[in-house]
Amino acid sequence: MGYVIATANMKGGVGKTTLSVNLATCLAKNYGKRVLVLDLDSQISATLSLMSPVDFAKYRKQRKTLRYLIDAIITPNLRLKLTIQDIIQSQVCNLPGLDLIPGDIDLYDEFVVSEMLHQQAVNLGENNFEAIWNRFERVLLGKVLEPIRDDYDFIILDCAPGYNLLTRSALATSNYYILPAKPEPLSVVGIQLLERRIAKLKESHEQEANIDIKMLGIVFTMSNANLLTGRYYKQVMQRVQQDFGDGKIFPTQIPVDVNVAKAVDSFMPVVLSSPGSSGSKAFIQLTQEMLQKL
Ligand code: ADP
Ligand code: MG
Repeated sequence: MGYVIATANMKGGVGKTTLSVNLATCLAKNYGKRVLVLDLDSQISATLSLMSPVDFAKYRKQRKTLRYLIDAIITPNLRLKLTIQDIIQSQVCNLPGLDLIPGDIDLYDEFVVSEMLHQQAVNLGENNFEAIWNRFERVLLGKVLEPIRDDYDFIILDCAPGYNLLTRSALATSNYYILPAKPEPLSVVGIQLLERRIAKLKESHEQEANIDIKMLGIVFTMSNANLLTGRYYKQVMQRVQQDFGDGKIFPTQIPVDVNVAKAVDSFMPVVLSSPGSSGSKAFIQLTQEMLQKL
């Protein structure tokens, strides 16, 4: 069976999406793995890192985005015409093995979700709304992925910043999570916050099911070799090492590299658009480290 891996951090702009798409691409390109990327952020950065806005608009019009699959679960009496296989875009960036479920700027309506769960509580005669909500959250993305879970060696879940329904569902259904962080003092707080949330998530579900997600590691992203950052960086590293132990930090850091940011203009990740760049080399090395850890 393959691995489901979430990239998560409460903070935005720390390189979650960039990591997701480059890791996925390296796994497919350099190791021949079958990889699926799920864009769980309504900012659709992962989608637009792997396809052009024109293609995205076309698929969205055909309702071939994650929204449709979530809708099918939230509104069960909706007549399904599309299957998950119809929605998956195969060989994105022309790369065999690299597939994408496009995201959407509108992934779900919280009001509809609460109403549906409320109705369920009424029907079941259950008065523990929290338990019903928890159950829904725990199974949501698992249900979405169930028909194709065995078709992939890796399913990468690119989470939105914060801690919304889909992030919680992603964490509940993943085997591992990777935490990208910038080498800044406040990052330490972000890492601790997410760790605490995950501990709580496990706790609040333990009566009903075992959530056994583990941290695969922390990746320092957008690190800069200049003096000031260097000093801060050492402090941050020390704090993180104290808190999580040496083994949790990936030896490879992703440097600041303009090619990484520019890659989105070519609708493909940097490891395809500028394979020789420093950012690209770092992602290739990181992928190798990740596979060794697994
Ligand atoms: P997140 O998903 O955590 O919000 P992103 O991966 O979207 O973060 O990255 C935020 C911004 O930083 C994007 O514009 C991205 O292109 C840029 N970026 C990410 N990694 C690098 C890097 N190594 N060097 C330069 N720019 C980067
Ligand atoms: Mg992102």
